[in-house]
Amino acid sequence: MPDESVQPPFLVFGAPKIGEQEIAEVEACLRSGWLGTGPRVAQFERDFAAWRGVQPAQVAAVNSCTAALHVSMVAAGIEPGSEVITTPLTFCATVNAIIHAGLKPVLADVDPLTQNIDPDAIEAAITPRTRAILPVHFAGRPCAMDRIMAIARKHNLIVIEDCAHAVETEFHGQNAGTFGDFGCYSFYVTKNVVTGEGGMILGRSEAHVARARMLALHGMSKDAWHRFGDQGYKHYQVVECGFKYNMMDLQAAIGLHQLARVGENWQCRRELWQRYDAELAGLPITLPAAPEADTRHGYHLYTVMIDPARCGISRDGFLDAMNAARIGTGVHYLSVPEHPYYQQQFGWQPEQWPNAMQLGRQTVSLPLSPAMSDADVDRVVQAVRKVLSGS
Ligand SMILES: *Cc1c(COP(=O)(O)O)cnc(C)c1O
Repeated sequence: MPDESVQPPFLVFGAPKIGEQEIAEVEACLRSGWLGTGPRVAQFERDFAAWRGVQPAQVAAVNSCTAALHVSMVAAGIEPGSEVITTPLTFCATVNAIIHAGLKPVLADVDPLTQNIDPDAIEAAITPRTRAILPVHFAGRPCAMDRIMAIARKHNLIVIEDCAHAVETEFHGQNAGTFGDFGCYSFYVTKNVVTGEGGMILGRSEAHVARARMLALHGMSKDAWHRFGDQGYKHYQVVECGFKYNMMDLQAAIGLHQLARVGENWQCRRELWQRYDAELAGLPITLPAAPEADTRHGYHLYTVMIDPARCGISRDGFLDAMNAARIGTGVHYLSVPEHPYYQQQFGWQPEQWPNAMQLGRQTVSLPLSPAMSDADVDRVVQAVRKVLSGS
């Protein structure tokens, strides 16, 4: 008999895998006396550009993906009040960034299988005021970028890709984030590459990126490293009313080594994904759709659907039971119109986007972190089986 009084440790959802190299680099950064935006951020930008196969001048590091989305839309010069079409199955930051850029979010429902924005729904949502499309590569699965780019060309729309889940994602041999005018990445603690808080802007146009970079640091014409570095004091000029969105060297110190292991960690999550697929098959839950041919899935989230009619338990009951088994889970996401702010501000109701509503009410994300051991995966699988068997 197992000793019931000894509780297993809580399995934290999305725990990052931090190596000794990150720890040493953070220490070296602290000892260098340069904590703010400086040489480590510049190195991280060069490494990231190389990873995504673009020029260094096509990327700018910032302190979050939310900031990246916001300044991208400002830098794109989209006139205030214009409409931006995005998905209802996303984190609130996607929609909030549109609002902060002075633009109007318009939702287009997702495909129930891929959980990504449906190109037909985008077309149906276009009005004379539409200026941009903001697709989210949900869970790391690429959106249908061929169709989305065709729609954008036809209607002369800006495309900003939310790549918060998609730092490794590819569609038909091309990297996610390089199709549109901008790709915006997140290095938040639960994401595939971690800096604590952090983000990256990738832009097709170097001029757009230069403007985004300036907007991310108060609208100043020179950043601090160039003012206080070893090249002698340089005056700066404020040429726009910008924001305080710059990444610190302290953050880049973590990111440099995370990025060096991005492939290794991806491989690890792919193996976890395949184990879940094999070991959860046959249970009365819907597993994530298999990755599409000629794409590379980012394997950021492993989402299963809890249909109470099939499972004999509600989604929220399932979350509670997993928590009681000391396993952290996530919900990605309750659809955006479930939240009172958007209902009040825009009059949205979840029923208007039924696929996102249904997914959002049934979805559960199981832990999928390269920090997990085989025993951790066993625990998750056992707990899912036990909860579903009602014992
Ligand atoms: C995490 C996330 C964001 C925000 O990223 P931050 O770096 O935390 O600002 C935006 N969009 C999606 C889809 C996300 O998952």
